[in-house]
Amino acid sequence: MHITVFDTHSFERDYLLRAAGTAHKLNFLEVQLNLQTADLARGADAISIFVNDDASAPVLEKLHGRGVKFVALRSAGFNHIDLDKVKALGMCAANVPAYSPYAVAEHTVALMLALNRKLTRAHNRVREANFSLNGLVGFDMNGKTAGIVGTGKIGAVVAKILHGFGCNLLAVDAYPNAALEKDYGLRYVSIETLCRESDIITLHAPLTPSTKYLINAQNIALMKHGVMLINTSRGGLIKTVDAIDALKTGKIGYLGLDVYEEEKGLFFYDRSDLILQDEMLARLMSFPNVLITSHQAFLTDTALQNIADITFQNINAWASGEKAEYELTTT
Ligand code: NAD
Repeated sequence: MHITVFDTHSFERDYLLRAAGTAHKLNFLEVQLNLQTADLARGADAISIFVNDDASAPVLEKLHGRGVKFVALRSAGFNHIDLDKVKALGMCAANVPAYSPYAVAEHTVALMLALNRKLTRAHNRVREANFSLNGLVGFDMNGKTAGIVGTGKIGAVVAKILHGFGCNLLAVDAYPNAALEKDYGLRYVSIETLCRESDIITLHAPLTPSTKYLINAQNIALMKHGVMLINTSRGGLIKTVDAIDALKTGKIGYLGLDVYEEEKGLFFYDRSDLILQDEMLARLMSFPNVLITSHQAFLTDTALQNIADITFQNINAWASGEKAEYELTTT
């Protein structure tokens, strides 16, 4: 099969080549899929897309006209593909629903520890032969209350790790996980109680119309002064302007972000030659108690291997006339 791989990053190329084996001819493109770039897939049987590609109806129509029949998503999220159009055109699409909850959960805890123990500041100091400890006081995680918003695959692993640290666990989820209650003493509460009682709040719910700006001025007002807030889920869960206000007053004492509501076009790319135009991000970067990573929580060897393997399992199943295990259907 000829497969055009859009929005390829150097960190994933070798994994994809290994998973493809000799059965396929891959055409790696760095550009994202959109109406202008869809022509580049001419002659391909299938394409593969990442999180920022645009597989909306007009783009799919163009791809279909160029002979593309299958879209393999290298992501769990599928909000960027029009599945009704996929069906109407007689095309197929499949995603990678889970590749490593551990990768994201472990990065979440890395953000907590780095913020708590001020590792960036300490590292920079030591590199300048400044061995002073002033301003580096952290807190014991043991005995603190951690609130987990969303105890699905990733939230459950975070619960397990934080239980190991000796944290008391609170959670919000419409679908309680009885094993977490039994094994780790986790208690399901309302979002208001979680905000009031947690020293650390970590977000693992998906972004939907009902979770957009779940963390806003109203909920932040309920939180403890100096709370630690971590978001490795989706940027839109936090109303960033409200978080900035709360950082200014000290209400939020630590903010760890792997995702940001305006990350599209910035995260994943080297923009170091350009003047940053995003005022909110610039303000966030100015706080010493904010730690930002650019959507890298998933980025482990295990996760990349799984993404590549499952992407090609989907493609191989479709190529041999079977239904791909993770074929996406309209609801
Ligand atoms: P999942 O579907 O297994 O779990 C999500 C959980 O959130 C479910 O239990 C669901 O019931 C719960 N939920 C839904 N609405 C809620 C609400 N209003 N309040 C509280 N809980 C709610 O998903 P997952 O695999 O654990 O992934 C969680 C999120 O992590 C994904 O939606 C994705 O946005 C994000 N993610 C980020 C990265 C990264 O690299 N930063 C990588 C993968 C996933």
